[in-house]
Amino acid sequence: MAPVLKSAEELNIMREAGRIVAIAHEEMRRAIEPGVSTKVLDDIASAVLRDHGASPCFLGYAPGNHPPFPATITASVNNELVHGIPCEERILQDGDVIGVDVACLYRGYVGDAAYSHAVGKVSRSALRLLEATEAALEAAINASVLGNKISDVAKATARSAGRMGYSVAREYTGHGVGASMHEEPQVPNWWPGKNSKIQWQDYDLQVGMTYAIEPMLIAGRGDLMELEDGWTVVTKDGSLTAHFEHTVAITADGPLILTLP
Ligand code: MG
Repeated sequence: MAPVLKSAEELNIMREAGRIVAIAHEEMRRAIEPGVSTKVLDDIASAVLRDHGASPCFLGYAPGNHPPFPATITASVNNELVHGIPCEERILQDGDVIGVDVACLYRGYVGDAAYSHAVGKVSRSALRLLEATEAALEAAINASVLGNKISDVAKATARSAGRMGYSVAREYTGHGVGASMHEEPQVPNWWPGKNSKIQWQDYDLQVGMTYAIEPMLIAGRGDLMELEDGWTVVTKDGSLTAHFEHTVAITADGPLILTLP
């Protein structure tokens, strides 16, 4: 199925959905410090969404064999790449890196964004990973222009990460965003060669395409596994990870980030 192109009016609603997500991120950012539980962050995001008349997309989400996701945010600490389940027992420690992802539905449209944060004072290598992941996102956004394809966006991400010496998560991709949280196109963080077993559908970028770009960078090898909770994805070698995400729209004037405050 081809990507759904959005009208200017739809993009305006998506900017509102994205703004609510951005506000939730800002409020969580202020609360992140050693001693705070990931449940506290979830409560903050839940309150922001509720106060703005938006509903959380992750809560109850249960694709495939996954159990229903029990929270508003995913909170993934250190070697947890994505999909960590927030809870009272998970207390942030000085030196941790936490990735927080939030998506909301507002007036029928979705906004989706993620940030990774240093907790207290982190190592220089952790700071470098955070900077590299944000830079990879920026490179992918800059590649989101007419005349390019989805594969150009994917290659821009991989190139940016590779230049800094990091691997990208190969199994998890960005995705089209609209009335639904996941639609066409898939937006990978790398692009397979012609002989690869994995082949994604490539598309020319078009005005009105909207998708979430979400580089997930890994300091060590890229091997991943899912924990027994049915959600949390971790690096097998325990290496540190970071994740940043924005929802963007393709416009005639260049990429428009929809998830800004
Ligand atoms: Mg997300």
